[in-house]
Amino acid sequence: MSTTSNQPIPNPTGPSPPLVRLVVKPDRGRSLVAAGPIKPGQVVLVDSPLILYPSSLASLPLCCSRCFRVLPSQPFPCPSCHVALFCSPKCLSLSHPHLLCHALPSLVSGNDTWPDDLLFLLSAYSLPSNSLLQLLSLHSNSRYPDEQMPLIHSQLSSFIPPNLVPTHFSPETTSSLLSKKKTNSVLRGGRALGFYLWASMINHDCLPNVCRFGNIDDPTRENNTDLIFRALHEIKEGSEICRSYVVRSDEYRERHSWLIEYYGFRCKCDRCKIESKWFGNEGEYADEEEELVEREVNFPHWDLLMRYTCKCDGTLAPLPPYPDGSVSDIMECNWCGIIRKYEPPDDDPF
Ligand SMILES: [Zn+2]
Ligand SMILES: [Zn+2]
Ligand SMILES: [Zn+2]
Ligand SMILES: [Zn+2]
Repeated sequence: MSTTSNQPIPNPTGPSPPLVRLVVKPDRGRSLVAAGPIKPGQVVLVDSPLILYPSSLASLPLCCSRCFRVLPSQPFPCPSCHVALFCSPKCLSLSHPHLLCHALPSLVSGNDTWPDDLLFLLSAYSLPSNSLLQLLSLHSNSRYPDEQMPLIHSQLSSFIPPNLVPTHFSPETTSSLLSKKKTNSVLRGGRALGFYLWASMINHDCLPNVCRFGNIDDPTRENNTDLIFRALHEIKEGSEICRSYVVRSDEYRERHSWLIEYYGFRCKCDRCKIESKWFGNEGEYADEEEELVEREVNFPHWDLLMRYTCKCDGTLAPLPPYPDGSVSDIMECNWCGIIRKYEPPDDDPF
């Protein structure tokens, strides 16, 4: 059983009906499902960040504090804090989070224990109340260490003047925000961390049907901080939209420990159901002979892995369909950007 939500979803198809809808599943929580048949390569979701902020103090002199592109040789400094730099008068006029702006001069000259967490908290608390509540609504399985909480909240308080204290400011909100960070933040260009409301509702599968595009340095995209999700293959109406939170070519053990560590769940996808049988309780192959037979004979996802995995370990997805609706056989890697015609693997056993 699932229930449909009325929340509006960003629609990459403009005036036509959205390609995905939100449902709440008892076993998987909030999930996005195909609202109709989706073609290979079709853009299913374009999502703008709720917040995007410098991932560390070291990022500040290197990138624009608004769009996070690499700075030109003559950047535009923030007239208030003189620390944040912008790439253009436009980004300068859009500015950066007000509590972060207020705190940056002290933050860059101090030696706080957790400056990266403070960058996040100051950015999050700068959000309008409804956006902060959206951020707090994101799912998280991780928990910030309780013993560090009083200190980080008091450090944070020291950066916020009495006239700027946000509505929801409290140790509980701070703790809740920090618990969202590990599970939901997306590293962009190695220099910024973003939170994306809709993208975070795309659940994991080790056999995903969409992958993420959106190079933050792409000079051709004005909205360079958006994330774009494209279908790898045809997706039937009602099927769940899934991406992979792990490197897809990793073995079961690597995927399993990463998912437990960062997302707090054990994957039960079709691929894991098969591969988990290859390993015993000790994390070793349960039976080497059996494992070899399984790999060679019973490996239904082999074709999928070969077809959609680039040599760089990135994911290959078809280019979007042509204007006449026909599907492209040109594949693009979401990591290295290579574009090439789809070629079936040489030793395809199927
Ligand atoms: Zn900029
Ligand atoms: Zn500033
Ligand atoms: Zn899995
Ligand atoms: Zn690649």
